Amino acid sequence: MVIGVLAIQGDVEEHEEAILKAGYEPKKVKRVGDLKEIDALIIPGGESTTIGKLMKKYGLLEKIKNFNLPILGTCAGMVLLSKGTGLNQILLELMDITVKRNAYGRQKDSFEKEIEFKDLGKVYGVFIRAPVVDKILSNDVEIIARDEDKIVGVRQGRYMALSFHPELSDDGYKVYKYFVEKCVK
Ligand code: GLN
Repeated sequence: MVIGVLAIQGDVEEHEEAILKAGYEPKKVKRVGDLKEIDALIIPGGESTTIGKLMKKYGLLEKIKNFNLPILGTCAGMVLLSKGTGLNQILLELMDITVKRNAYGRQKDSFEKEIEFKDLGKVYGVFIRAPVVDKILSNDVEIIARDEDKIVGVRQGRYMALSFHPELSDDGYKVYKYFVEKCVK
C-alpha cells in the first residue's frame, strides 16, 4: 500500500513518518506522473490558497480531481477538498461540505486537545489555525470527529477530511489506518 503525500507545501516529512508507523509506504507527490504510483493521497496542512494555486500551476488540480484516488485532507487539505470557504480560492471541490477557515479565532489559533473519533475513541488533535466544517451539503457525508459542537472530521466515500494534524501526535497513525480501512480497501 503506497500512500502519496502532496509535496507542494506543508509538513510532508511528518506525514511520511506517520504513514510508516501505520505500516504503509510513503511517497512524495510533486508532479502528475507520481499519481500513477500511489494507492491513496494525503493533502497536508499549510496555506490552502497557496497550495491551490500551485496545484493548478503544476497541472495537478485537474488530474487529482479526475483520478478517483482515495484522498485524506488535513487542515488546509480539508479546505481544498471542500466546495467552498466563502472566499475566492482554488479548490478541488470533491466533498459535499463548505468550511470556515481559521475557525477558532485568534486566542485559540493553535491548541491541542483530545477529541472524539468514530470507532477509535479519543484521539489527540493538534489544531493549527484550523478550519471546521461549516455546512454539510449531502447525506453522503458522515461525521467522524467532533470537538464539542464543532465538526472536525468527515468522510464521504473515498474522501476524508480532518481539521487537525494527525501527523503531529503520537497516536495519529491510528487515523491513517482508519483512512485505509474505510476509504482505500
Ligand atoms: N489556515 C490555513 C488555511 O486555511 C490552514 C492551516 C493549516 O493547514 N495548519 O489554509
